[in-house]
Amino acid sequence: MNVQRTNIAPHGGKLIQRELTGEAREVYLEKCKSLFSLTISKWNVSDLEMISNGGFSPLIGFMGKADYQSVISDMHLVNGLPWTIPITLPVSKEEAGEIKIGDEVALFKDDGELTGIILVEEKFSYDKILEAKLVYKTVDHDHPGVKKLFEQGEVYVAGPIYVINKALHEPFEKFHLSPAETRKLFADLNWKTVVGFQTRNPVHRAHEYLQKTALETVDGLLLHPLVGETKKDDIPANIRMESYQELLKNYYPSNRVLLAIYPAAMRYAGPREAVFHAIVRKNYGCTHFIVGRDHAGVGDYYGTYEAQDIFSEFDPLKIGIKPLFFEHSFYCKKCGNMASVKTCPHKEEDRFILSGTKVRDMLRKGLIPPLEFTRPEVAEVLIRGMKINDGEGK
Ligand code: ADP
Repeated sequence: MNVQRTNIAPHGGKLIQRELTGEAREVYLEKCKSLFSLTISKWNVSDLEMISNGGFSPLIGFMGKADYQSVISDMHLVNGLPWTIPITLPVSKEEAGEIKIGDEVALFKDDGELTGIILVEEKFSYDKILEAKLVYKTVDHDHPGVKKLFEQGEVYVAGPIYVINKALHEPFEKFHLSPAETRKLFADLNWKTVVGFQTRNPVHRAHEYLQKTALETVDGLLLHPLVGETKKDDIPANIRMESYQELLKNYYPSNRVLLAIYPAAMRYAGPREAVFHAIVRKNYGCTHFIVGRDHAGVGDYYGTYEAQDIFSEFDPLKIGIKPLFFEHSFYCKKCGNMASVKTCPHKEEDRFILSGTKVRDMLRKGLIPPLEFTRPEVAEVLIRGMKINDGEGK
């Protein structure tokens, strides 16, 4: 059969693959026993996975100094491609002292399992304050991304990587799809246009409205929740995954939606992370990407639409995926449906707006938030999941 593929090119033109398999993997499993070993953070493990599966194409490893500096100050890689978030491997000064340029270093997770290797081409110190200011637009340690930055090692080691033991992502294995796999599925489904949706939250009515509005004009939706590291008060991925499945089962056409996990860590870098999220979803084969209000934001570090405005600083052809911008959406009692200021003429008091914090409080108390905010099936999963996670359900 002649399968028509989504023809969106990966960032930089080629989907990167850096997973060792077969004999090469066996060789390295043995070799790693005698290499210098580094234990890396969960955040870095997820970056390693994203580089190796091609989600971070065209990167083949952790960034060297030239790319790092170009990314933080100019939002492009040295080769001219847009790239807004540094992908780096921090180590302590002591560790850096033991690693020589040209060394292969075995990378371990904090549970002691070998994950991959890096061929160290560079070591360089960096300015945390400068990185915080440029990437996060703040040096406030209350910002979760900034906090991580200031807790990490003082030296970046850089160079190409390989993954040796692939992450399993139990219990979401079924939803663990690499960019090559999502691309193939889109082709098999004959989806020529696919909108990607990033979230680190349960899908509430406003999210659903955005997704379905977009779905009116494209062939398919990739619901792509982030399951890497998030801040403590975000709802854990296992609970969210169950809630997404319940939502899709009850309210979405099964032949128009693909649910898959996005294993990366959340940076909360607002505008820069919105561009980054879009580029990564292009690598997964999406042609469109939703950016709503305060995308990837936290607290009030970023303006409501800053994550949309930033796209005008790039050549759209180089970004290569079409961002779909949405205004703040809500349920309007007078309209009797979901809307935004673009479509609803009524007053603020006619609108149903609940803060995420308020909703989380309601769920913790076992209360189902109003239908105008969330689907009851979703709320039920969240209430049950939060009870178990808080230790009450056992
Ligand atoms: P993230 O922090 O990863 O952006 P969210 O779940 O907060 O995750 O948001 C997912 C997407 O939905 C983002 O593009 C965000 O801008 C958008 N969004 C969330 N709530 C609303 C809303 N009420 N109106 C418009 N867009 C929204």
